[in-house]
Amino acid sequence: MSLSILFACSQPQAPKQQNDFNYNVEQFADLGVLRFQATDWDSLSVNQKALVYCLNEAALWGRDILFDQNNRYNLAVRRTLEAIYANCKSDTASTDYREFLVYLKRVWFSNGFHHHYGQEKFLPAFSEEFFRNAVKSIDAKLLPVREEQTVDDFLTEITPVIFSPSLYAKKVEQNSGKDVIASSANNYYGEGVTQHDVERFYGTKKDPNDHCPLSYGLNSRLIKQDGKLTEQVYKIEGLYSLAIERIVYWLTEAEQYTENTEQKQVITLLTNFYRTGSLKIYDEYAIAWVKDTESTVDFVNGFTESYGDALGLKGSWEALVNFKDIESTDKTRTISTNAQWFEDHSPVAKKFKKDEVKGVSAKAITAAILGGDCYPTTPIGINLPNSNWIRTEYGSKSVTITNITEAYDKAAAGNGFIDEFVCCDYEKELIKKYGSQTDNLHTDLHECLGHGSGKLLPGVDQDALKVYGSTIEEARADLFGLYYMPDAKILELGLLDNAEAYKSEYYRYMMNGLMTQLARIDLGKQIEEAHMRNRSLIAHWVLEKGATDKVVEIKKNEYNKTCVVINDYEKMRTLIGNLLAEIQRIKSEGDFTAAQALVENYAVKVDAELHREVKTRYNALGIAPYKGFINPVYEAVRDAEGKISAVKVSYTEGFAEQMMRYARDYSPLPTYND
Ligand code: ZN
Repeated sequence: MSLSILFACSQPQAPKQQNDFNYNVEQFADLGVLRFQATDWDSLSVNQKALVYCLNEAALWGRDILFDQNNRYNLAVRRTLEAIYANCKSDTASTDYREFLVYLKRVWFSNGFHHHYGQEKFLPAFSEEFFRNAVKSIDAKLLPVREEQTVDDFLTEITPVIFSPSLYAKKVEQNSGKDVIASSANNYYGEGVTQHDVERFYGTKKDPNDHCPLSYGLNSRLIKQDGKLTEQVYKIEGLYSLAIERIVYWLTEAEQYTENTEQKQVITLLTNFYRTGSLKIYDEYAIAWVKDTESTVDFVNGFTESYGDALGLKGSWEALVNFKDIESTDKTRTISTNAQWFEDHSPVAKKFKKDEVKGVSAKAITAAILGGDCYPTTPIGINLPNSNWIRTEYGSKSVTITNITEAYDKAAAGNGFIDEFVCCDYEKELIKKYGSQTDNLHTDLHECLGHGSGKLLPGVDQDALKVYGSTIEEARADLFGLYYMPDAKILELGLLDNAEAYKSEYYRYMMNGLMTQLARIDLGKQIEEAHMRNRSLIAHWVLEKGATDKVVEIKKNEYNKTCVVINDYEKMRTLIGNLLAEIQRIKSEGDFTAAQALVENYAVKVDAELHREVKTRYNALGIAPYKGFINPVYEAVRDAEGKISAVKVSYTEGFAEQMMRYARDYSPLPTYND
């Protein structure tokens, strides 16, 4: 439950490396493709580079898994489109073909035909006729037709998957009142499985007296067979075996280049988990991973975050390979070594606090490659593992990804966002001066302290808040960070050097939660995604509770444009503290009713008129609301014994080029994984 995603905009920072690096690659629909640099790559030893190379390969081989997890037809759709792209000799200047390219790029970008963030199915703007003709013009052997299926039968099956608005309409259904499992289009559950089935199946597995509960359901698809529920486990010789075999091969290759025995043990446990599917071994792996804090190179590879499942049980496959950014790590280390002080001084009731905050190890990292659910859109901070009892007993590892934040900042430089939406000169100046710094600090506090703070009361189920769990957890982490930003301790520790700098983050947070994040949502829709709901919740709660004192207001400026005005920053901090105390109580006690009331009242609904205004103003700036990244290309040089003796990095590959290369070189799964 633990990643941070960047706001719609950020401010430029002083460059770290080359100035002429081209961060912005291309833009289509509501998506922007950026590029990032593996900053300070040459500070790594040959061995470390070889280790990164092998882990990178392991990160790329799981991509098909995520496509299939997102929907059972995603691989069929992607492969059909790729076959058209590579082989169809249609009129490439036609509108249909241009729209075809946009649709294909969106499928690549979103790892399927649902919007990666909004979850809704997006539809092609090319004609069905164009599609049928294109498919028919290709040799049938190049198409993902099922055995014994004619191309016509294939078209009958696949066409509605692409064109029908009602079929698989939403990847993850979060709306209460619906069966969130039966109405979600993802592939974590088989045909006919209901929310009731899932709650009963996993409910009976849980023992309230078990202090070390396994992450039940994390690595499997739950299906109904002859009326009986059963799990198809993701493992070698299980579901997704062909991809997992390749991942395990490269993890095993990586072992010879590990930096120390702890790191080697992490990899051994992970490959054992992939071989057996045992969640017990998965926990052993997670514990070994948390303990490995000395290594320079680190990675995430596996079924990790559960945002893609409405009930938060199933882990989507993701990967990230990285190495320490030594310079920026000093800051995060300052935060984590003071974690106990922050825990002790928070406005949370004592019984919900941790007596002893264990091992929140924090570091700043440079991403080398993004994979699975981290690609092409990636978090800027990650805190793992997700298992609550492991976090309590062994702590967690928290990272902020500095080269990604830097790429966002560089790409956004001078895009006009701040001038358009911030109406007061005072805040405008603060944001221009401190925007990047305070944004990074908030991410650090969110990851290093927020997620790691507080405790559940004995006997409280970590999934007690069900569909509201992710939003409440993100709100808790955000509030913890926001609460401390104005604190004298932050200045004392040298994390900020100006007592007013925090106002830049307070202002942007409110502006984003009340207004600007709406740019990401289609007109007529409500807020679905957990991080967006969390921001809306905090901002609207503070707005309402501070209304009598006019702490924060929404006003029209002299040009009749809506803007946020903050009149009293100190009172705003008090309100943040009050909400933090309440959200922690809800989490600690597992108070489902209170979580539901907060989320439904403050986090979900959208003011239609304001929504329209924000989108109009945002669109006029020509900024893509969502960003994703092309990976660098790594090339290994081997010596006579086959050992890696050098690794070269390049940054010239284009978006379509990279996607087609991945489709060719890293696509092991069958099209249909039923
Ligand atoms: Zn988080």
